[in-house]
Amino acid sequence: MLSIQSHVSLKPYNTFGIAARARYWVAIESEEDLQTLLQLTEFLDVPKLILGGGSNVLLTRDVDGLVVKINIQGIEVVREDELHVYVRAGAGVHWHQLVQHCVGQNLAGLENLSLIPGTVGAAPMQNIGAYGVEIEQVFDQLEAIHMTTGERRTFRHADCRFGYRESVFKHELKGQYIITSVTFRLDKQPTFHTSYGAIRETLAEMGVSDDQLSIQAISEAVIRIRRSKLPDPAEIGNAGSFFKNPEIPKSQFDQLQEQFPTMPGYPVGPDRVKVPAGWLIEQAGWKGKRVGNTGVHSKQALVLVNHGDATGEEVRALATRVQESVEARFGVRLMPEVNFV
Ligand SMILES: Cc1cc2nc3c(=O)[nH]c(=O)nc-3n(C[C@H](O)[C@H](O)[C@H](O)COP(=O)(O)OP(=O)(O)OC[C@H]3O[C@@H](n4cnc5c(N)ncnc54)[C@H](O)[C@@H]3O)c2cc1C
Repeated sequence: MLSIQSHVSLKPYNTFGIAARARYWVAIESEEDLQTLLQLTEFLDVPKLILGGGSNVLLTRDVDGLVVKINIQGIEVVREDELHVYVRAGAGVHWHQLVQHCVGQNLAGLENLSLIPGTVGAAPMQNIGAYGVEIEQVFDQLEAIHMTTGERRTFRHADCRFGYRESVFKHELKGQYIITSVTFRLDKQPTFHTSYGAIRETLAEMGVSDDQLSIQAISEAVIRIRRSKLPDPAEIGNAGSFFKNPEIPKSQFDQLQEQFPTMPGYPVGPDRVKVPAGWLIEQAGWKGKRVGNTGVHSKQALVLVNHGDATGEEVRALATRVQESVEARFGVRLMPEVNFV
């Protein structure tokens, strides 16, 4: 039974803790709920905003439409072959709950993505990634429902057009499909990814030697690193990395490095280099700065925070100032990773 509520505060439903309001709000527990909702004549023309955990959105205004909160649960093995186990999870499952489930079953592939907030259904939207792994590496397929026709469609890997924090759902198909479940292809025999960030040092601190390496140990190491450097949204509102790491032509990178010899960069293909946005923001003098109710986090300059009662517009204004000062200093335009509503 659907219970559509009116004039609902969205503060508990976004990790920035922005107190925007929704004209209408409904929680969806199953695909049947969704089909029922899409057939309600009085809501046919009402604009809909899909929300999972609200950990990658900035609400810059009240939502004059219907917020559809996806709570579809369930984790199940759908098939298995010699090398892989295919696990399907409902779009509303907490991402970290799925990671813990798979790590607990000795199914490899998600361990580097431990503790990323949000839901399974939102994970393909921006091809979530961390510590050297992106979900496209373990993605098998997803099921989605068309927002207006209610048609059910399966998207395979190539259909999703994954890129760095990108997919077709942020571009050509933006706002058109509601993802209801995602299936992952997990490995029976793990391949360990330990070269990224502080994973190796943390494993050493944990006393894990190479012959003791396991997906459980990697998951634990990633959790420790994330807890030590990322702000917990329960304590201070934020949406993780606010900007994407810019990719610039190698020629531009070489010129910049002459001017700023400590500038880090990672080759992506022969002609392009990815520069850590956090470094650019820190060098532009923003790390730990506070502007009214908003600020730049003191440990991780890539994270913008809500110190209290910030509005989405205030956070947007800070983001614009950060963008402008980075561009003025380095000639590099930062693009938001967060979805503006
Ligand atoms: C502290 C912190 C750390 C983070 N670290 C990382 C990180 O390491 N790597 C990373 O990639 N991200 C990271 N993020 C960002 C965020 O956790 C991910 O993008 C996550 O996948 C968002 O999930 P969500 O359910 O909260 O999505 P939401 O914020 O609810 O939604 C995000 C977008 O997806 C759409 N959407 C959500 N669910 C569905 C659905 N079922 N069907 C269709 N559209 C949908 C929404 O309309 C919106 O446009 C971090 C965020 C925080 C707060």
